[in-house]
Amino acid sequence: MSLKVKSKIDVVYTINLPKTIKKYNIENISDLVKEDVYKKLISLNIDSKETRKTHVNAIHKTLAEKETKVNSGFCPKCGGKLVLRNGRYGPFKGCGNFPRCRFISK
Ligand SMILES: [Zn+2]
Repeated sequence: MSLKVKSKIDVVYTINLPKTIKKYNIENISDLVKEDVYKKLISLNIDSKETRKTHVNAIHKTLAEKETKVNSGFCPKCGGKLVLRNGRYGPFKGCGNFPRCRFISK
C-alpha cells in the first residue's frame, strides 16, 4: 500500500513538475502553483492529507533549491554559470553552456 502511494507521487512529480515550472517562472511561485498542485493531486485521487503535504513540500523544496542556484549565478539544470545575454525582448540570464543547455532564468 505504501509502495503504491509512493510510486504515485513519483509519477505526479515527474509529469507535472516540469509543466508547473514552465508555466510559472521562478520568481512567480505563488498560491497559484499551490492550487495547481493541489487540484492535480485531487484529480489523481491521492486522498491522504499527509501524502499531499509531503508532495507539495517536495515541490517547494525543489523550486527553492532551483531559485537559490539561479540567484547565486548557476544553472540549476547543468550547474554551468549563468550569463547575461541580450535577447530580442531585452536582457535575460541564460546558461553559459548554451546551446548544450537551454536553461533561461526569467
Ligand atoms: Zn545549464
